[in-house]
Amino acid sequence: MEKKQMIYEGKAKRVYQTSDPNLLIIEYKDDATAFDGKKKGTIPNKGILNNKISAIFFELLEKNGIQTHFIKLLNDREMLVKAVKIIPIEVIVRNIVAGSLSKRLGLAEGTTLKKTVLELCYKSDELGDPMINHYHVLALNLASEEEIGRIEQTALKVNEILKNFLESRNIVLVDFKLEFGRMDGQILLADEISPDTCRFWDSSTKEKLDKDRFRRDLGKIEEAYWEIYKRVSS
Ligand code: UDP
Repeated sequence: MEKKQMIYEGKAKRVYQTSDPNLLIIEYKDDATAFDGKKKGTIPNKGILNNKISAIFFELLEKNGIQTHFIKLLNDREMLVKAVKIIPIEVIVRNIVAGSLSKRLGLAEGTTLKKTVLELCYKSDELGDPMINHYHVLALNLASEEEIGRIEQTALKVNEILKNFLESRNIVLVDFKLEFGRMDGQILLADEISPDTCRFWDSSTKEKLDKDRFRRDLGKIEEAYWEIYKRVSS
């Protein structure tokens, strides 16, 4: 697959056109940002690890009936994906209290939620991804009622699949963020699923094995990403 013009560069990835208009190449970078880009850094080999970890999760989800944009890994840092139009909604799924939920509702980090919590955010860097609800989704014409319903059902199904898989690897899936895209009237799971976009805790020690190590200067950042790769690839 011939790599053509770069059409997008984000904080952690670059996206390239290919000779096929229906296909894109995603290149994963080592750059890391947090707190709306205010904290910047590099995590050595993060791009390689996130590319491979995401591929494992997308393959697992496809096997379990979730339609994703993933086609195949191309090399250490690149994957081939279907060209979707990203819906500007971030879907956050939470099993355990952490991060912004802990701050917002004054709940202790680590508290198990009685029911899975699903949140929607409007994907906008300038606005800092504000939280929205169904009314906003329809009023801003971000998605139809049927589409947002389908997106939410899929997000909950993804949670069940990933949670069970990770549990068998001694990892707790605390929370994560998903993005979806449209292609030919279909809605596909897109973006990435990695320690950048999920919170993973060791089931026994509750040690953080994700981007919180970078956000909170906990050290052993690269090691945590490697540990996740090791456990999900075995
Ligand atoms: N998340 C993400 N991108 C974002 C916001 C959140 O990938 O722009 C992920 C984050 O890694 C975590 C989950 O979504 O796994 C919930 O994040 P939270 O709302 O707690 O925000 P944070 O504390 O990370 O600012």
